[in-house]
Amino acid sequence: MSSLVSGRVAESGEKFKIVLKDLRQVYKIRSSEGAGREDFLALESFSLKVKEGEFASIVGPSGCGKSTLLDIIAGLSRAEGGQIFIDNKPVTGPALDRGIVMQGYALFPWRTVRRNVEFGLEMKGLPAKDRKEVSQKYIELVNLEGFEERYPYELSGGMKQRVAIARALAYDPEVLLMDEPFAAVDAQTRESLQDELMRIWEQTGKTILFVTHSIDEAVILADRVVVMSSNPGNIRAIIDIELARPRTNQEIRLSPAFAEIRKLVWENLQGPWASQASLKLKPGLEVSPEKEPSGQEPSGSGEVRLAELSEVERPAMAGQA
Ligand code: ADP
Ligand code: MG
Repeated sequence: MSSLVSGRVAESGEKFKIVLKDLRQVYKIRSSEGAGREDFLALESFSLKVKEGEFASIVGPSGCGKSTLLDIIAGLSRAEGGQIFIDNKPVTGPALDRGIVMQGYALFPWRTVRRNVEFGLEMKGLPAKDRKEVSQKYIELVNLEGFEERYPYELSGGMKQRVAIARALAYDPEVLLMDEPFAAVDAQTRESLQDELMRIWEQTGKTILFVTHSIDEAVILADRVVVMSSNPGNIRAIIDIELARPRTNQEIRLSPAFAEIRKLVWENLQGPWASQASLKLKPGLEVSPEKEPSGQEPSGSGEVRLAELSEVERPAMAGQA
């Protein structure tokens, strides 16, 4: 692999906003044999480059290390090994160059919508008048005009998550890190939040790294879908999503290309043997396996993987394949 951070301009001439190099995370867990502790490898050799302004989704089964990865990029936890660069600057801890939106709403319950959105601006030391101006802009961007003085308990789940997005965007971070942000809302709200997020992304040009265990969500939103394998968490495949923009759920879900791509992602989630088969079937769709999975696959691990996949949405056509 070529040098990852030799300059602002990458080999292809494109600028990389996020560069992850050989990330590795190890947790101490209770030994399966008894009272002792043993190492659990949650991430290994995880390398990825995300372009400026790109929307990248990371999809993988529950427990494959998605949150571990995002926490490390956010600077909330420290990796056992590897490096992270945002704009070529090494990440050493949390900072306002990364906006974070997590699964729970994580709003301050004692603050109104406006004061939640203003939080990062206060951290930046913006005077009250400027804070109000900026927060109003983002409250309007997420369609919460008229709710400025409400408290989180007075809002629906979808509204709370929009406040969280506005709060993360308001202090103008370089990248937006989102960890299953829409997992707790109902299906219909989720689709409208996805549409809104795409609109916001198009308006702001932010670089977004979006973690989900929903194949549909990953495909609908992203320019590229990074498919993770688990134990240890690694990249199994990166799939370019060449669906036209701007997208909306309504249009995308009806398109035959969407059905093909989600099937491809699903097959990649199951294992490299499936993706190889689909590669032959679909030469037009670009799939780039980043790294060969470890030697023990597929023998022995197939059953475990399918069990792990129970929490991952299965496309309707999967049974017919
Ligand atoms: P995901 O977000 O993909 O569901 P996580 O990143 O939360 O997965 O977890 C990855 C793996 O690491 C899981 O097997 C999980 O049980 C384990 N894990 C996560 N955090 C800890 C921790 N603090 N201590 C021990 N194991 C952990
Ligand atoms: Mg998680």
